[in-house]
Amino acid sequence: MAKHWSEPVTTALRADGQNVADLDTSATPGFTGDKRRGKELLAERGQVLSDLQEKLFAHGRTGGHRSVLLVLQGMDTAGKGGIVRHVIGSVDPQGVDHASFGVPTEEELQHDFLWRIRKRLPAHGQIGVFDRSHYEDVLVVRVHELVPQSEWEPRYDLINAFEREVADTGTVIVKVAMFVSLDEQKRRLRERLERPDKYWKFNPSDISERAYWPEYQKAYQDLLARTNTEYAPWYVLPADHKWYARLAVTELLIDALSTLDLDWPPADFDVDEQLRRLDES
Ligand code: AMP
Ligand code: MG
Repeated sequence: MAKHWSEPVTTALRADGQNVADLDTSATPGFTGDKRRGKELLAERGQVLSDLQEKLFAHGRTGGHRSVLLVLQGMDTAGKGGIVRHVIGSVDPQGVDHASFGVPTEEELQHDFLWRIRKRLPAHGQIGVFDRSHYEDVLVVRVHELVPQSEWEPRYDLINAFEREVADTGTVIVKVAMFVSLDEQKRRLRERLERPDKYWKFNPSDISERAYWPEYQKAYQDLLARTNTEYAPWYVLPADHKWYARLAVTELLIDALSTLDLDWPPADFDVDEQLRRLDES
């Protein structure tokens, strides 16, 4: 068990049919420390994550076929960007492949919804991070009826089949749904409007989207019920406390990388012989 956790983060956060609308978004499931301890721990555990990531990278460089995919979903201001900066930022950038998925381009719309996703799957040895993902195609697309139900409804099964294939070919998938309260979102949007260094994050449509909160909650509820599989589990992350969200995702990634049980790749040369040659050189 990780230090200051009463239970493994994977059980504390695993989606298990909880009601999204009733979720306490300010909770810190499983963590027994406070904010100060949480922040201290983030630095310490970031180092552990970084070491594991280097092993994964070395594995990829020496012919290994494993990788990790972190899928981040959440409403605007939920803190997806902060996870990328503060969690993913603690590992070597050459081992990370970050992809964000916005409104599809004309070209992307000419293909099936998984086309652009497949192209960004992590290479061997990489940690792929999706800031939004194929799940937008059963979230915003469903809420705004961008395609008819006859088209989005089959997507849950298509997503499961797709993720099964990704998992079976060596990628550990970790899916995190981040939830803030409607009030917390208001506070964060206000901050974006009051701070010139945050204007760039603001989009007037973020305010219009607030009117659809219940529809989004319903769409999240269904998505969690229909795509929470053993091979691609969902974690439900209360995200009002940024420090907790970052620590929890760090622990989820440590867990995912640990399940790979990687060793440092053995030398593919005779170490003694190379030492001898070095001495003589
Ligand atoms: P942001 O993450 O703040 O840059 O915003 C990206 C926007 O793209 C969000 O409003 C998403 O809902 C939207 N988006 C992402 N994927 C899709 C999709 N498949 N169809 C329509 N809108 C999407
Ligand atoms: Mg945005």
